Amino acid sequence: MSTTKTASGCVLADQRKFSDFPDTSPVAEKLASGKLGFDPDQLRAKYASERDKRIRPEGQGQYQDMSGELDIFINDPFVKPGFEREAVERDVDVLIVGGGFGGLLGAAHLREAGVKDICIIEKAGDFGGTWYWNRYPGAQCDVESYLYLPLLEKLGYMPKEKYSFGPEILDHSLAIAKKYDLYDGALLQTGVTDMSWDEGSQRWVVTTDRGDVLKARFISLATGILAKPKLPRIAGITDFKGHVFHTSRWDFDYTKGSTAGDLTGLKDKRVGIIGTGPTALQCIPHLGKDSKELFVFQRTPSAIDVRGNHATNPRWVDSLKPGWQARRMKNFNIITNGGYQEEDLVNDGWTDLFRGLVGSEGKSEAQKSMSAEEREAIKEIAHFQKMEEVRDRVDAIVVDKDTAENLKAYYRPFCKRPCFHDDYLKTFNRPNVTLVDTDGKGVEVITEKGVVIAGVEYELDCLIVATGFETGEGFTSASGFEINGRDGSKLSEKWADGPSTMHGMFSHGFPNCFFMGLFQTGLTVSLPHTLNEQAEHIAYVVGQSKERGLDVVEVSQQRQDDWGATIRSKAHNNEEFFNTCTPGYYNNEGKGGFNGHNFLTNQYGGGPIEFFEILKNWREEGGMQGLETT
Ligand code: NDP
Repeated sequence: MSTTKTASGCVLADQRKFSDFPDTSPVAEKLASGKLGFDPDQLRAKYASERDKRIRPEGQGQYQDMSGELDIFINDPFVKPGFEREAVERDVDVLIVGGGFGGLLGAAHLREAGVKDICIIEKAGDFGGTWYWNRYPGAQCDVESYLYLPLLEKLGYMPKEKYSFGPEILDHSLAIAKKYDLYDGALLQTGVTDMSWDEGSQRWVVTTDRGDVLKARFISLATGILAKPKLPRIAGITDFKGHVFHTSRWDFDYTKGSTAGDLTGLKDKRVGIIGTGPTALQCIPHLGKDSKELFVFQRTPSAIDVRGNHATNPRWVDSLKPGWQARRMKNFNIITNGGYQEEDLVNDGWTDLFRGLVGSEGKSEAQKSMSAEEREAIKEIAHFQKMEEVRDRVDAIVVDKDTAENLKAYYRPFCKRPCFHDDYLKTFNRPNVTLVDTDGKGVEVITEKGVVIAGVEYELDCLIVATGFETGEGFTSASGFEINGRDGSKLSEKWADGPSTMHGMFSHGFPNCFFMGLFQTGLTVSLPHTLNEQAEHIAYVVGQSKERGLDVVEVSQQRQDDWGATIRSKAHNNEEFFNTCTPGYYNNEGKGGFNGHNFLTNQYGGGPIEFFEILKNWREEGGMQGLETT
């Protein structure tokens, strides 16, 4: 861990002067002197061929919905079966759907604004959202805990390590629920089935799969992203006679152990795992350690850089001044949006990546005089260079040369989520672990006994599916219920081509309804940051409505259209970049044709810093501009 003297003279851990970072100008020098150490043309061609062999004509259609006999992949294994309760009928001030960080932050800010009557409806057996479901061994947040875990100062809590593991984040979620009395009136293990605006009573009528009928003055939808597990349409997937589950529904009854590992149930088992994304790479080290044999079925390797986790330094904690978390969040957000900060407070793989590959563009003297094309060329070389480093890391760790070659990622950084892990690559040096690379084809056939790749059947006792979560299929499909607004207009129809909103939170025809979604908003690398800003804004609108005695607030069509025009005019042309990427959920599985449901493209292009400023200014103007009120 590095220590640095700050301007105030304090020695703080985890800080590095911004000037310590390499600029991309050395790239320009190396380019000019021909000393790159790689051939850009060859790499460009390699990236294109690796991408092309992974494009599948069916795109998102390669995945299937999990209902009927596939519902074993989505049922909640963390609750006792057979839970029943009486149906509830009640009036409520604010009804929130979703008990993850969005719902928790929404409710916490509402409580602070003096709202007492809040009901949170959540499908799971408890709060926590992502961190409730994802308990797989090794589950960890790859964004620094000191900024990712919300409300640390309010709760007086300091994470144990720089990168928290799942149980600590889940416990923190439950602590937020307790602090703000959110269990009071919450309906857990309950799914919303329908929401309809009733003009007569000016209330939302909300029904659930437990027969509840709630009448809510306001509704807030915090149903999250990456919440619905997805399963490839692999021939024979239901024929497998061994044990099978999705990583987000980990079966500890079978594997034994916990998120911390010690999966003693696997010691005599042949285990297979499909997928090598951010989830898989966190659990594979545990599977490798505890299974008799492990087969990792890989379609595309992840690019994995250094993690460098460590315990929280008490001296650093003692040095913190009130307001430190907001400052840290802001500092990280600026750097990961290509901005300049004198100090990099977080100083990790994320900030290094953004500073090296995005932030320094056009900042050096030499680059200032360059054309956009020249700068793009420099950026591409910097990208090649970074990925060469990541590929060299594979060679340095993995002993078997063929395995090492197959673990190297050939695409540009940001084509897929950057990954950081210190034990994943080592796992492939274990004699009981086999990487089964499918040369971009993926698993296509499963039998009663196991998985077939290139004509070879790998017999398994247990198959773990780490194939991720649905994205881009639309708000109502992801949340699983319809929202019927004024005059019965359906949200699924109104948003068929993507959400239309003001500020990503208000939609015309849907009064007293707030969306805590990740569209038409300011997207942050640390998602709770965006959710916190939205929560603060919604609490302001609810508070103002109460103060001014307003029954109904609804965005005008004009202001919504204006925001749509702003989104379009500010849009980054990142489609070209993503179209050169290997397929994945970031680029609509490589099919192009980005639609409004793609959460990376339907964003406020000015970035989150500018977006949060827009929200703040809107509040400070005080007139609730654009909201029609009754
Ligand atoms: P991903 O969608 O990222 O990965 C799914 C994996 O399954 C990919 O390796 C994919 O290959 C593979 N796959 C899909 N179909 C097949 C097939 N037929 N045969 C073989 N392999 C297949 O899901 P994850 O659950 O790993 O991660 C989802 C998201 O969750 C991440 O992007 C991240 O945002 C978040 N996450 C965040 C973490 C954090 O620390 N904050 C930790 C874990 C997850 P291919 O690449 O070829 O499509």
